[in-house]
Amino acid sequence: MEPWEQISNYPSHIKKIYEFLSKEFGSVSTPLTYSKDYELAIAVILSAQCTDERVNQVTPALFEAFPTLQSFASAKPKDIEPYVFSTGFYRNKAKSIQGFAQMLIEKFNSNLPRTMEEMLELPGFGRKTANVVLGEVHDIIEGFVVDTHVKRIAYKLGLTKYKDPIRIEREILEKVPKKYWNHLSLYLIFHGRKTCIARRPLCDGCGLRKICPSAAGKVE
Ligand code: SF4
Repeated sequence: MEPWEQISNYPSHIKKIYEFLSKEFGSVSTPLTYSKDYELAIAVILSAQCTDERVNQVTPALFEAFPTLQSFASAKPKDIEPYVFSTGFYRNKAKSIQGFAQMLIEKFNSNLPRTMEEMLELPGFGRKTANVVLGEVHDIIEGFVVDTHVKRIAYKLGLTKYKDPIRIEREILEKVPKKYWNHLSLYLIFHGRKTCIARRPLCDGCGLRKICPSAAGKVE
């Protein structure tokens, strides 16, 4: 039986998960390091198909080499590429970063937009990027961030029957109370880094073991 088929009372299940994780991790914010709002957007663009740890390794030198939004907008993507090479898909990412900076200046007066619709106009922005930036910068929660940890763990815990990020987000938005959306995503990311590790989940020491339908490696 799939994990989600084993959940008989979804509201109670999600409540127990949320309560455990909130005790475990308390107040959380994005693991990406940044000092200016637009830098967060660039870090999230770089985090596509890449770990936050890796992104945090490359951004200090990147932000030092391009210290202003204008410096990114004026750069050639080729100038950005060496700094983002190790995050993968570096050509596309460098192009997106330059395009993002240029559009932010020209169309949005250098201010990050406040709606999902406008966010999605920005080069390199998908729903995940937009959700992270809206939540972190503006405290606007319009959706649910599904990264690689969230995708894996939401399935294992039976919170979704899907493995595709767009469908997962849609299902979570339908079933999980809005007040949980922002922190739940971050909690799952932290839980994925600490305990429910991709290739070797530490089920024996996991506080969710009793209610997790995938405990002890029943589902990969
Ligand atoms: S019990 Fe295992 S599979 Fe379930 S959340 Fe914990 S570490 Fe992950």
